[in-house]
Amino acid sequence: MSDKTPITVAYGDGIGPEIMEATLKIITAAGARIETEVIEVGEKVYLSGNSSGIAPESWDSLRKTKVFLKAPITTPQGSGYKSLNVTTRKMFGLYANVRPCVSYHPFIKTKHPVMDLIICRENEEDLYAGIEYRQTRQVTQALKLISYPGTEKIIRYAFEFASKNNRKKVTCFVKDNIMKITDGLFHKTFVEIGEEYPDLEKEVWIVDIGAAKLATTPEQFDVLVMENLYGDILSDVTAQMTGSVGLAGSANVGDEFAMFEAIHGSAPRRAGQNKANPSGLLLGAVMMLVHIGQPDVAAKVHNAWLKTLEEGVHTYDIFSEGVSKIAVGTREFADEVIARLGQKPAILKAVEYSSESHHKVDKVNTKSLSAVRKDLVGVDVFLDWTSGSPDDLGNILSKRKADNLELQQISNRGVKVYPHGSANIGTVDQWRCRYMNPDNGKIVTHGAIVEMLGKLREHGFDFVKTENLYNFDGEKGYSLDQG
Ligand code: NAD
Repeated sequence: MSDKTPITVAYGDGIGPEIMEATLKIITAAGARIETEVIEVGEKVYLSGNSSGIAPESWDSLRKTKVFLKAPITTPQGSGYKSLNVTTRKMFGLYANVRPCVSYHPFIKTKHPVMDLIICRENEEDLYAGIEYRQTRQVTQALKLISYPGTEKIIRYAFEFASKNNRKKVTCFVKDNIMKITDGLFHKTFVEIGEEYPDLEKEVWIVDIGAAKLATTPEQFDVLVMENLYGDILSDVTAQMTGSVGLAGSANVGDEFAMFEAIHGSAPRRAGQNKANPSGLLLGAVMMLVHIGQPDVAAKVHNAWLKTLEEGVHTYDIFSEGVSKIAVGTREFADEVIARLGQKPAILKAVEYSSESHHKVDKVNTKSLSAVRKDLVGVDVFLDWTSGSPDDLGNILSKRKADNLELQQISNRGVKVYPHGSANIGTVDQWRCRYMNPDNGKIVTHGAIVEMLGKLREHGFDFVKTENLYNFDGEKGYSLDQG
């Protein structure tokens, strides 16, 4: 039997084929024990009529190898094309996106000479669930979906990763001063799970000031964990701060499957010019080698690459007069790295990998919530309505009651407008009408909600959405209006 690990490889679009060739050449020269299966993904597949950018038979290779080294792809402009990355992450449960961002001062110009941090970004939920609606002529909506299991998994991953890789601190970014339920869950889970890791320092920042601190004093951070959208934006910012977006690799990790890539895109304007920096994809491949149990080869490649940077052999994106020594293209850069295989950097810190320092953590078992009591206590009915003032709407709706269900208040864009709303509030054509048991806090039935909707329909109201209001173990599972 072959001792080679089968991996699935996609050459991608734009600069993808050039940087993939360079990457595979380097890791093969370093002795990577891999067997590649090539699949086609990206622009050509999209334009052939496949809206997800990957042919059905390619999934077979991925299901078999469970390891995917992927060059960036171009998503054609226009609607109707689904993101291949998002699809792959969801199909294979790749819940953690791990993005190391490191400065290589003084060899690569950066405003932040001391920087060695890792962003663990939740990869399956948040606004990236892609659940969007246009509900009225004036109002569109995207759902921010944050689940208990999804949150537990990424936060436990970040703590496990930090302790396995000898990191000292884990920082969580949230916006729970505004999103008290969704980001509040992320914050609370971070604190709860953090207690199981007494040796690690922990801190929580509101994402806006946290991002400002990250951009000005990245040396204060070590491992960071955050929701999908914050992580997507901040990991690009952080990678660019190290000197070039072309320098960072990334791992997308699930319980069974992992995908490795550069964090940048296909840079179509640089395609076919032998100019692109292959470093991001190469560092993605280094993470892959660690993942498949070849830490020796990973360290050999990584150290030769550091040595190459240190000797001033630079592609155009990191070339700087006075610092760089030789400007090279993609292929020449690969050859220079290969020439240094077996060497270690003299000034930059050499890396060491062992079978412990992997990106995979043991399967995360999330806690059961089946004992939590769930009581239906009301409903929010969203109406598309343009026939008068908030008081007009309130007066009409207050007269329509169902069994134990009465209008309590109306809000518009989250601000209370009835009863006693401020006259200055600008409103749009979507109204959130909150119905609850007049005997406050008591449960209501689904039957009463259906009866109320029937009454609204009889009176010609267009209800565009309903959202049930639940208490969980007596705690409100819905937000209150502002104002
Ligand atoms: P991009 O990351 O492709 O390029 C932005 C700029 O960064 C380039 O113009 C170039 O100047 C520089 N750059 C990026 N990678 C470089 C490298 N390796 N070496 C040197 N310079 C590099 O971003 P974009 O232009 O916004 O997106 C181009 C395409 O890539 C789009 O179709 C987008 O959808 C796609 N994309 C794909 C992925 C992916 O497959 N993972 C990720 C992001 C964007």
